[in-house]
Amino acid sequence: MADPVANLKDAEARLKAAAADHGRAPPDVLVVTKTVAPERILPLLEAGHRRFGENRVQEAVAKWPPLKARFPDVELHLIGPLQTNKARDAVAMFEVIQTLDRDKLARVLAEESALQRRSPRLYLQVNTGDEPQKAGAAPQSADVLLANSLRLGLAIEGLMCIPPADEPPAPHFALLAKIGRRNGLSRLSMGMSGDYLIAASLGATLVRIGSGIFGDRPA
Ligand SMILES: *Cc1c(COP(=O)(O)O)cnc(C)c1O
Repeated sequence: MADPVANLKDAEARLKAAAADHGRAPPDVLVVTKTVAPERILPLLEAGHRRFGENRVQEAVAKWPPLKARFPDVELHLIGPLQTNKARDAVAMFEVIQTLDRDKLARVLAEESALQRRSPRLYLQVNTGDEPQKAGAAPQSADVLLANSLRLGLAIEGLMCIPPADEPPAPHFALLAKIGRRNGLSRLSMGMSGDYLIAASLGATLVRIGSGIFGDRPA
């Protein structure tokens, strides 16, 4: 596979074309670096990319501090499930947390933000497929979770979803966009390596690309 910097440029060019076809602005690319070693991330930082995603708090804590020391304007996003006992580390480490999906977590994040005087921007994760094993608020609970989170003083920037692996993603992206519209949230994190162009055509403002940039992850 070509090098990660070339792959990113290629993805950005495709996104620009797909978005233009639909009269939209191209989404930003979140480069997903889970399981990827720092040496392989460095060339992207040196090329000027700043927006990265990790799915585990522990891995981010182990990997990112030296990279952030060198590139202080990095914007690190948490895209994996967050347990309340990791909320402290998550608030300290991430600029954006995309996986707020329940009231208890909203309360703990509000407490930690106050204690640390540091408020990561937040996305509500919506389980658009209502899959029992998957994180995310049920689609019909998203509005209440949003209202409760805002009441706690949290800054909710947008919505995030991971469609079921075995279904066409478009209806899920459309549902997320609909929930965003009815709640006045215009930022949508949706689309991964296999479907980011579809997501861009349906209004994604942020797509999350891992294997499309670094190649397949070890199983
Ligand atoms: C791993 C991951 C991605 C990236 O997946 P690819 O298919 O490798 O692009 C995107 N979003 C989330 C939540 C992930 O965990």
